[in-house]
Amino acid sequence: MTAITRFAPSPTGLLHVGNIRTALHNWMLARKSGGRFILRIDDTDAARSREEYVDAIRADLQWLGLDWDAEERQSARLDRYEAAFTALHAAGRIYPCYETAQELDVKRKIALGRGLPPIYDRAALALTEAERTAKEAEGIAPHWRFKLDHAEPITWDDGIRGAQKFDAAQLSDPVIRRADGSWLYMMPSAVDDIDMGVTQVLRGEDHVSNTAVQIQIFTALFAAGFAATETAAKTLPAFAHEALLVGREGKLSKRLGSLGCDAFRERGIEPEAIIALLARLGTSQPIEPIADRAALIASFDLTSFGRAPAKFDEDDLERINTGIVHLLPFEAVQHRLPDGMDEAGWHAIRPNLAHLGEAADWWRLVTGPIAQPEFAEDDKAFLAEAARLLAWGDNPWGELTTVLKEATGRKGKPLFLPLRQALTGMEHGPDMGELLPLIGEDEARARLTQAAA
Ligand code: GLU
Repeated sequence: MTAITRFAPSPTGLLHVGNIRTALHNWMLARKSGGRFILRIDDTDAARSREEYVDAIRADLQWLGLDWDAEERQSARLDRYEAAFTALHAAGRIYPCYETAQELDVKRKIALGRGLPPIYDRAALALTEAERTAKEAEGIAPHWRFKLDHAEPITWDDGIRGAQKFDAAQLSDPVIRRADGSWLYMMPSAVDDIDMGVTQVLRGEDHVSNTAVQIQIFTALFAAGFAATETAAKTLPAFAHEALLVGREGKLSKRLGSLGCDAFRERGIEPEAIIALLARLGTSQPIEPIADRAALIASFDLTSFGRAPAKFDEDDLERINTGIVHLLPFEAVQHRLPDGMDEAGWHAIRPNLAHLGEAADWWRLVTGPIAQPEFAEDDKAFLAEAARLLAWGDNPWGELTTVLKEATGRKGKPLFLPLRQALTGMEHGPDMGELLPLIGEDEARARLTQAAA
């Protein structure tokens, strides 16, 4: 079945790793099945939504290479929510409430004080017409709740959590509309999922109880004949809820809530590393530096997800990043490399990189100037000999070390280290066999001669 999925961020802040993971998994589900991935901006909260966050969300998804087939905005769909509201109201599933926030708080505290769950008591349902009129005459505008059906147990087969069952009587009737007419999250999301033909809702397990409520909203909307268009969903989407991400210590971490693409970019993390890690974090599949997205998509499987919280470890990300950098082909990174660095340069230097940004430092070993250490007298004589014997064939490093070994009797570290230090100024670094041809004959001889002086 081709999946229609959506990623539905609220533009009230920047994306963090948890959101990115949800976006990625929805994208993978859609791509794996040849379906569609919708970016839905949940901007019904006009006071907290900001256009700059919408732009940042788009930019982050682009940087990560998560392309979307359609973009929807809740603020542009208010007429659909009005229509759904009218339909549910006509069906007797929505009722007006007049309690203030303080009154509700007192009710909650009393319930908790009695050891009862703080479920809304439906007092507003019991109001008579006259009582409602009196409230409105006092200038109290109602907010609106969706009336859950207590007779029907709510069940679904969760793609990750397995069989789920909720007793509607253990849930509060959700407020779906504020007194000022604005919408809360619960109903618009279900309306959108119907209108956009969403087949699979995949999100964090913090939404499990929302799903229980939304299943009743979906069902009530279907019963009210709301699925109007050809492409609209006529049946419930499949639901799956992922265990939340926790920090290395195993706790929900504040840091993860603010860790996003800006921090990753700053630290020189490749998008492919983030993708490779998040694609499999929390699953039974091995986390490896896989740069091939098609392979990650092909192996994506909801049934491999565990119920335990998924640990996000920044050291893992660094390890995957290093592995990814070592796989990147020249064409993929060419535009990000220092001037003059060609394919041979990339191949020589790549194994030394943990982050692509370090390429410039290593490339300076080729272009110079380099800082050589002060050598002992016997090393100076050895390096003078090296300058004299340097010849430029197919394999200058191999040839140089062979003739020097014969001429001086040196081998191992005393043979290689002074040469490396004289030629690069460093004690370790890229493979000299690859590096020396890049340095070039004249420059190499000059460096050896200078070191010997
Ligand atoms: N805007 C909601 C959120 O960010 C969307 C939840 C959903 O996927 O339905 O939590």
